[in-house]
Amino acid sequence: MSTPKRYTITSALPYTNGPIHIGHMAGVYVPADIYARYLRGIDKDVAFIGGSDEHGVAIPMRAKKEGVSPQVIIDKYHTIIKNSFKEFGISFDNYSRTSSKVHHETASEFFMKMYNNGQFIEEVTEQLYDPEANQFLADRFVTGTCPKCNYEEAYGDQCEKCGSSLNATDLINPKSTISGAPPITKSTKHWFLPLDQYESFLKEWILDGHKKDWKTNVYGQCKSWIDDGLRPRAVTRDLDWGIPVPCEGAEGKVLYVWFDAPIGYISSTKEWAARENKNWEDYWKKDDTKLVHFIGKDNIVFHCIVFPSMLKAEGSYILPENVPANEFLNLEGNKLSTSKNWAVWLHEYLEEFPNQQDVLRYVLTANAPETKDNDFTWKDFQARNNNELVAIFGNFINRAVVLTNKYYDGVVPAPAELQTIDIETLEKLKAYPAVIASSIERYRFREASQEMMNVARLGNKYLADLEPWKSVKTDELRTQTVMYVALQIASALATLCEPFLPFTSAKLKGILNTENSFVKWENIINAESLLTPGHQINKGELLFSKVEDETVQFQLEKLEATKKANANALKEVAPQKEMTSFEDFSKMDMRVGTIVAAEKMPKAKKLLILKVDTGMDTRTIVSGIAEHFAPEAIIGKQVTVLVNLAPRKLRGVESEGMILMTENAEGKLVFINPDEDAVKAGETIN
Ligand SMILES: [Zn+2]
Repeated sequence: MSTPKRYTITSALPYTNGPIHIGHMAGVYVPADIYARYLRGIDKDVAFIGGSDEHGVAIPMRAKKEGVSPQVIIDKYHTIIKNSFKEFGISFDNYSRTSSKVHHETASEFFMKMYNNGQFIEEVTEQLYDPEANQFLADRFVTGTCPKCNYEEAYGDQCEKCGSSLNATDLINPKSTISGAPPITKSTKHWFLPLDQYESFLKEWILDGHKKDWKTNVYGQCKSWIDDGLRPRAVTRDLDWGIPVPCEGAEGKVLYVWFDAPIGYISSTKEWAARENKNWEDYWKKDDTKLVHFIGKDNIVFHCIVFPSMLKAEGSYILPENVPANEFLNLEGNKLSTSKNWAVWLHEYLEEFPNQQDVLRYVLTANAPETKDNDFTWKDFQARNNNELVAIFGNFINRAVVLTNKYYDGVVPAPAELQTIDIETLEKLKAYPAVIASSIERYRFREASQEMMNVARLGNKYLADLEPWKSVKTDELRTQTVMYVALQIASALATLCEPFLPFTSAKLKGILNTENSFVKWENIINAESLLTPGHQINKGELLFSKVEDETVQFQLEKLEATKKANANALKEVAPQKEMTSFEDFSKMDMRVGTIVAAEKMPKAKKLLILKVDTGMDTRTIVSGIAEHFAPEAIIGKQVTVLVNLAPRKLRGVESEGMILMTENAEGKLVFINPDEDAVKAGETIN
């Protein structure tokens, strides 16, 4: 497209069933915010749109679990999420919610226009139904085995293992997630979007039209979808939480969340336009508007296949120019998980690292999962902070500001004649806006953040090489020139870092006293001077502080504790065995025994040969515990022994009984031992 007149930037609507963690930020919101801030920085007309998705099936499920109404859940998490975004400087022009009136109206109108144009297929089909809960089962309400990869915990709408999008009826051995019961099938009427009819449109638009400018991960996923052949998809559901289907004969049905959620971008834009006195249609219907969706890779199919087909069908909308989806961010080698609490939660980060939002923004950008899944580690967090933000950015600004205050009472000095190194440095500085812009416009935010850091590097090296703290004693004019050049770099940095480090940018502008004489990106390229001689700057303050080893250790221990708690919670309880009679039970003779000797079985990794005092005799018992206990550590231990188990030979040694054991959460064997101290060996257990 030729130069766009305006930009509509959307970021995935988070489900209001939990707070926001670093994975959401790295995948969607930080890159979207960098893009929006950059565009505003170069004076573009931008609508940066967000909102909460409050109709996901996860919401009534969470409500059921907590024993409250869905409204309580959405109000709670909408507030938490909205605050987190605000705290981290995600600069939405509007943040709405899909439970709003304007959204219900917009989604209903959208549906009705398609309905009246005959763009849905109406069909009675057999759907899964939970006879115990008296409810149809779709999406997250049913799990079963994925027909494509055999993963046993696939959901009714998607397999999280292989990423396939599924219909609930595709699952093998389906199970209701409400009651656990195997579902029956029952017939019900639904409206389907015949995606197969959009295949040629999608082929032309994506496969031919966006081969060059879409990210390869996004393009590749779209291609495999289209090559697989598209099928009609139901846009309605039998549920009582969502937007009621507005046509006749649809009582008790709601719009499928994936039909209404992306329309939420449009509703949120309407809300913003009404408040700002703009025409929302300019941002959604004019060809000179550039529409960009920021999402995670799990949403590619909906934003590249389903929603564009809806927009195309409706007929009056533009299509997205790009959908720069990111891959996933992992945490210390494991997949982020809300339910397993394996995450760095934004609200917790803020408590533990007050006023350090930019550090997290920077680390998540510098290490963003742009082309492949990436790992967030606390060690890397510490290294990025200490070696880059503190040692380069912070150090440069601190030197420039402190020396200016010390030598010139905070007044920008006039330069003497510039030498080659000064001219070259200023030329390099002028090149950075275009370099950073080019990376951002190609959605390479990691690269862009490193180029921004290179501006700080340029300044830091310039001061380190020219050492004004030495020249000040011998050459006053030279020192003035060097400090003047350093301050130009500092001022440019305050502007160029704004998309990445908005809080730092504001602080730095405060220190340089340039909040009111805003330096623009183009000024850095064109202006004679960014900070003119005679301009008064303020006293400095530290922009960043070191992250100590103990802080990293604390975070790692916190994760370790989560891991232990998860292991305990997830350990499966074996099902009860068949009933046994009292008579059969009485046949078993269990006694308290004392281990009096223990040695390793030669050439057997797992076996110990024990001598156990049973009160009646001292007998030999072979036990498979060698990997868990050293022989010398268990001598004298009281244990429970089944003494009348028929003897059997293990590796040629006859074992006359069995010691009762169990396994703890970490898989380590532990003895079932008498609770009271020093119960006499030979006491029976019954
Ligand atoms: Zn699968």
